[in-house]
Amino acid sequence: AVSVAAELIRASKYVVAMTGAGMSVESGIPTFRGADGIWSRHGQPSANSYAEWLDDPDAFWSSERRRRLEPWVVELREALRHAKPNEGHVALAEMEATGRVNSVITQNIDGLHQDAGSMNVIEIHGSRDKMRCVDCGDRTPRKTLFIDSPPPPCEECSGRVKFDSVLFGEPIPKDILQAARSESDKAECVIVIGTSTSVKPAGGLPRIAKANGSKLIEINSSETPLTRSCDAVIRGTAASALPS
Ligand code: NAD
Ligand code: ZN
Repeated sequence: AVSVAAELIRASKYVVAMTGAGMSVESGIPTFRGADGIWSRHGQPSANSYAEWLDDPDAFWSSERRRRLEPWVVELREALRHAKPNEGHVALAEMEATGRVNSVITQNIDGLHQDAGSMNVIEIHGSRDKMRCVDCGDRTPRKTLFIDSPPPPCEECSGRVKFDSVLFGEPIPKDILQAARSESDKAECVIVIGTSTSVKPAGGLPRIAKANGSKLIEINSSETPLTRSCDAVIRGTAASALPS
């Protein structure tokens, strides 16, 4: 399967990697779902947190403060703090440097692709390093991991500011969705790594690319709903499959 995948990559003029939580498991960051997932062990958080934030930001931020003590948040934040890129992140960055891979669209918020040296990264679920105004889209640096009080209004438009990472029920910012669509439209080959493709709309991108004629390569330790649509399937982990 590795040689079939390599051949597809060589034959393609534009190659896009799409990554999910499985990409960073070997960096010590657990997935949310699945047997060892954070939510499977600690319980799933509220499914409409964006609506809760819009309705009553003060109550949201005070519950955020309390959430510092919730076990799943503590575990995720600790994992994020200590995580380093794994061999898979490094291999993808090298493939970009040598012109084999043109861009990375990631659902992850851990920043590990950039830490490994990837340059053209679209973070479809936002970045852990930024704050964002939901009214005008302006982004500013996020100074602390813990947000202890409601962020001040946007300096550009006085709008509502939250961390850049998307909450449940929050639309993907338009600029990001457009950038991701434009990458998948250009793709002749998409390498789908460590994602179940079950989270919308990010999970729909490989299918849109496929409908536009792109080849699909899957790298995942388990079968996914996308497996049957793929031209090459590498049943392995990100840190072992990508270097090979
Ligand atoms: P998901 O949909 O991204 O699925 C995880 C996938 O990874 C599964 O298909 C699983 O089979 C696969 N996988 C597990 N270990 C792997 C490995 N070592 N190599 C290759 N594949 C592996 O996951 P989710 O956990 O349901 O996440 C939902 C959303 O939350 C996604 O947007 C995800 O990116 C985000 N999230 C991000 C991080 C992070 O930033 N590192 C961590 C957890 C969740
Ligand atoms: Zn604004």
